[in-house]
Amino acid sequence: MHRFNYQRSNLYAEGIKVENIIKQFGTPLYIYSANTILDHFFKLKHAFKVLNPLICFSMKSNSSLAIIRLLVKSGSGIDVVSGGELYKAIKAGCPGVKIVYAGVGKREDEIETAIKAGILFFNVESVPELEKINKIAKRCKKIQSVCIRLNPDVDAKTHKYITTGKKETKFGLPYKVAKSIFKNKSKYKNVKIEGIHLHIGSQIVRLDPFLKAIKVALELKKEVDFEYLNIGGGLGIIYKNEKPLLPDQYAREIEKLLKGSKVKLILEPGRFIVGNAGILVTRVVYFKKGINKNFAITDGGMNLLLRPALYEAYHEINLVKKKNKPKVKMDIVGPVCESSDFLGQDRILPVPKEGEALAVFGAGAYGSAMASVYNGHPLCAEVLVNEKEVYLVKKKENYRDLIQNDLIPDFLR
Ligand code: PLP
Repeated sequence: MHRFNYQRSNLYAEGIKVENIIKQFGTPLYIYSANTILDHFFKLKHAFKVLNPLICFSMKSNSSLAIIRLLVKSGSGIDVVSGGELYKAIKAGCPGVKIVYAGVGKREDEIETAIKAGILFFNVESVPELEKINKIAKRCKKIQSVCIRLNPDVDAKTHKYITTGKKETKFGLPYKVAKSIFKNKSKYKNVKIEGIHLHIGSQIVRLDPFLKAIKVALELKKEVDFEYLNIGGGLGIIYKNEKPLLPDQYAREIEKLLKGSKVKLILEPGRFIVGNAGILVTRVVYFKKGINKNFAITDGGMNLLLRPALYEAYHEINLVKKKNKPKVKMDIVGPVCESSDFLGQDRILPVPKEGEALAVFGAGAYGSAMASVYNGHPLCAEVLVNEKEVYLVKKKENYRDLIQNDLIPDFLR
């Protein structure tokens, strides 16, 4: 469910006409709906009210400071995966005690900053990482709490690039290693090993992979005791015609599994919260008739929304102002010099005129977060709509931004 709807032929973001928003802020433009984000957050919170988990929004899906702030103000914690994300989470006002930190490549400086910030848990992905956290915590005269990321070797039945819980992926630790860490936890004097972390993948629409993974963690709990269970993110959403899990259904099944286990639960949703809460609006620069194909060439492509190029992901695309004109088949492509630069393929739409705006739906997660300046296109602006108000939450970059960190060495002057 989201709050981007057509009234007659005009697309609205909550209570504002998208046409008016792009008149003010230009294109390409990311538009987010604050109340869609909150609806999703509270839907999940409500579904899980019996287990009362700490929900840590996974900011890799969308790292807009305003969105993080919106969620933090509503009680969310934050899941981070780098020193940069930690910095942003703190800047957005998230208290350290609500921050969990995953990722396979945590550097020493990042670990030290996180320990000093008083984060709740590192989700530890390897034995050398655990040793390093122990060493740095000792140097900082602290005892750092951690969870061990368990690789349960479960197939999430999603795209292989967003599958993270199978044994051949780089994530987490195998059962035996996780178990031996718990058995030898006295070795790590400056680390408190408090729980298990799982995250088996993203855009998962089936229940059984989640349940299988949790069962592996509960199996381990019979052999070694722990207090916290972080079941990660991964809940799928509707991009086309998927039938994702309903939060209530997901929560009830997990409740059943965890009955009697007394674990404290943590969730790390990303896509579920923001995926359908954002659209990318682009304008048609040219309509080009090819030999076998027609192309609507727009002012934003894979540089702003990489998912179609990276995973052949489907995003619904439609005119911001619908019109009653004959429809033809076309690819919606960006300006980038790559054949993979498309937003949609073989779409049936009325032939757009130059300057007409297209809305790419479901762009709130892994959209702006994965954007780049490839081909010299500055990053676009982002706005947040709250009912009838619209706020600029990220300024459009300019050409000066493209060179601000470049240096010309003396011998070239
Ligand atoms: N937690 C971890 C450790 C992740 O790597 C991810 C994303 O891949 C998430 C949470 C969020 O996943 P999703 O956006 O599918 O909810």
